[in-house]
Amino acid sequence: MSVSQLFVVPPQQSNFLSHRVQSDETADGGEVVDYTLGDEELAYLCAAVGDTFGHTLGDEELLNNDMYEDFSDSELSRNDEFAHWHWLEQIDGDASVGGNLVAVCDAKLIRRAHIRRTFWSEMAEPSEETSDLGFELFDRYGRLSREHYDHKIGKGSGAWGEELNHGDMLLFESLHVERSRRHQGIGTKIVNAILDKVRAKSDNFFAFVGPGYLTRDMVGEGDRKEYSEMAEELSTISLRFWRSLGFRRVGTSSWLAFTDNDSHPSRRLTAGEDWDPLEQSKEKEPLPEAIQTVFNTLSYPSASDAECVRQIQEAFPGEEGAAPHSYTDKDGNTILHSAADGRKAETIAWLRAKHPSLTDVRNAWGHTPLEALQSSLEKHRTRRRAGMPISVALDRFEGFSQPDIASLAALTGTEIFDLTKLSDQDISAVSSAADDAVSRVPKITTIRHTLRLKYGCTCGECIGGFLSPRMHFALLCQAEHRHDLLTADLDAKGPAWVASHGLELDHLALPVRENLNTNKSMRQGFTRMCGHIARCLREKRVPDEEAVLESFRNQRSEWPPVTKNYLQRGGTVAAVATMLFDRAMRWDEWAGDGIHLDAHGGHVKTLPVCRNDREFGFVSGMCGYKRVSMIQHVDMFGRERVY
Ligand SMILES: [Zn+2]
Repeated sequence: MSVSQLFVVPPQQSNFLSHRVQSDETADGGEVVDYTLGDEELAYLCAAVGDTFGHTLGDEELLNNDMYEDFSDSELSRNDEFAHWHWLEQIDGDASVGGNLVAVCDAKLIRRAHIRRTFWSEMAEPSEETSDLGFELFDRYGRLSREHYDHKIGKGSGAWGEELNHGDMLLFESLHVERSRRHQGIGTKIVNAILDKVRAKSDNFFAFVGPGYLTRDMVGEGDRKEYSEMAEELSTISLRFWRSLGFRRVGTSSWLAFTDNDSHPSRRLTAGEDWDPLEQSKEKEPLPEAIQTVFNTLSYPSASDAECVRQIQEAFPGEEGAAPHSYTDKDGNTILHSAADGRKAETIAWLRAKHPSLTDVRNAWGHTPLEALQSSLEKHRTRRRAGMPISVALDRFEGFSQPDIASLAALTGTEIFDLTKLSDQDISAVSSAADDAVSRVPKITTIRHTLRLKYGCTCGECIGGFLSPRMHFALLCQAEHRHDLLTADLDAKGPAWVASHGLELDHLALPVRENLNTNKSMRQGFTRMCGHIARCLREKRVPDEEAVLESFRNQRSEWPPVTKNYLQRGGTVAAVATMLFDRAMRWDEWAGDGIHLDAHGGHVKTLPVCRNDREFGFVSGMCGYKRVSMIQHVDMFGRERVY
């Protein structure tokens, strides 16, 4: 659903105007900005008339307007609804004329610093609008998604960048002005009143709005064409309104943002210079039937590649016939976009060979066929799945499907390997193969490339396809650091050692942990395990249980056999590895407190950036351990729920 709808509240007769400016702080911190019009505005109101929407609601529709009845009930109820989100403050603006409500605006002030580590799962909760804002513009840590500032087309006007990663967020969810009161500056006054309120509360915030309209503004008998024209007109009006207040589009998204900072690039951009999607010609001829059929077939999941290619050949016969890139759907997608969307890998390969220029055609949102597919896969990877809390769904990612990988490969013209032909051991061996083996056996390169496509690696260096150089380094730092820390006071008495290393021992089963109090060999074994994992990481291997144990066995015989003793008495590789993932996450500058970057920032910056850099839950899960998370999920009895 779009936000900031202009919608109709029932027309009210205004016999007199009162003069009142009131601000009520409610008990739960929610706030009502009650904006009432003054003398000058009265004169203005009386002079101004306007109803651009050309439609009046009938009596029955008025009775059914439950939104309006809600508002007349109690202001408090509007605020109560959001009271238990400590990071969210509901700020409403109302305008009344003669005691009658003529306009309302709903806004929410979001204290992003309070929810940084669990940004998505928090934003998913309060409303559809907070959820849309959180997911469409930002990543899981509340940082502006790179595509909105770092992509040739996706950056739009280029006005917004990483400054949007910081500060509070003011979300305008809806603005409703009574139809007969529109075009009188009331909307502007309410929005400004809310902005003023927020200026007093926050010295660094950005305001956001996703301009749209509410379908109830479009009630009528019109046919579909009229309906869509009306929708477009309402959209345009809403967009123009927010731009008149200084809001400018973020990248090519549907969101506009505003800042008080006068020297910000967005403030130097006139409304006319702001980015809009490529105008698709309104008079555009409908696609010829045969070509429309091709588009339809490409999107059917069950249509075979052979059938798709046959239809394309029929629709575009020979060199002198119509060129496929001159035919696009309403979003500017070519048949190659459509084939990618339908995951038709062989059709994609065929089209690329036959019409190579199709790979460069961008749709209305600036995406080439490859970028459109990548964007759709990213959504698939990160969105909520049925019945699962969002954070869990995020960390449950287990790689893209075979058709996804094949389509990605076809679009990049690269070769992939059928991973189903390999055992886990094969994959592990390939992942950790030394450089000279890689150059001798070309298949290894192909398998590694396939794994990286499967696990969404964007750096081309992820070990096993998912362990990125930055995460690898963070884990290695933890393994070495914890090893040194635990070793330093191994001479201390057992109970003192156990008491001072609670953090490290957190993932050990309780009886084993108790055993450490009296068994020095066990304490040494646990400590040594950090060293084994560090060695495994230095060997550029995925640190799963098997690889860690193998790395341990490959060492010269250990005497006294402390690792063996630790393992035989219930100690596990997982207890140590999970702790290392958990600690690395808590030291991360976005997922945690940033200690890692403070200590090793110089080296971190020399490492490539990858999409998988901060996916601690996903990567720990892929290594066969518990998927670590900053959120603890508990069942109804308060017990931790492990997914
Ligand atoms: Zn990578």
